[in-house]
Formats: sequence, structure tokens, C-alpha cells
Amino acid sequence: MEQIYSEINKKCIHCSSGQVCIVQIRKNTSTSREIYLCKSCNRRFTPDNGFNRFRHPPIVIKTALRLNNKGLSLSQIAYQLNSSFRVKVSRKTILDWKKRFLTKESEKII
Ligand SMILES: [Zn+2]
Repeated sequence: MEQIYSEINKKCIHCSSGQVCIVQIRKNTSTSREIYLCKSCNRRFTPDNGFNRFRHPPIVIKTALRLNNKGLSLSQIAYQLNSSFRVKVSRKTILDWKKRFLTKESEKII
């Protein structure tokens, strides 16, 4: 486990201390996950903005869902994302986003 201390504007969700550092956990050589470690209470947390588990930036996901709401097909959405953001997103990934975000909560996110 590597610990990377840096100035971040986060407060501990447990004790509200501002003494928080980023800890990076490497699961294997290709993936790693960032979590926050509070130096005051020594507890860890991951601030959840709803997009933490996704590889793509929120703007890409939001755009995909907007296009979906306009009635575009999965391949049309993938094409649009590629031309707007230069990201390659599979139709399966877009389908996963739809399942994950197109719920009652989706109005708030989009
Ligand atoms: Zn704390």
C-alpha cells in the first residue's frame, strides 16, 4: 500500500477533521483505487459522488444519459461520445450506465 500525502480540501466524514490524506491502494498492476485516510481518527473513507466506481468522467456519463433520453441508440451515443470527448465507450458500458443511473434518482444527477 502506498500512501500519498497531499493537500486536499476534504474533511473526514467521521470526525470532520481536515487532516486527510489520499491513500492509493493497488489491487494489481493495472488498477488502483484512491481512498482517503483521516490522520486524526485514523479511519478511511471514500467520498461517494455516485460516480466513484466508474472509469469515465461524470460529464461523459451525463452526456450519454442525455442522448439516451433524446432517443438515440446505443451505437449513436457511442459515436457521439467518441466525437465529443474522444473516448471510446462500448455499448455495454452505456447499457450499464443506463441501468445504474436511469432510476428515480436520475433527475438529480442529470
Ligand atoms: Zn477523522
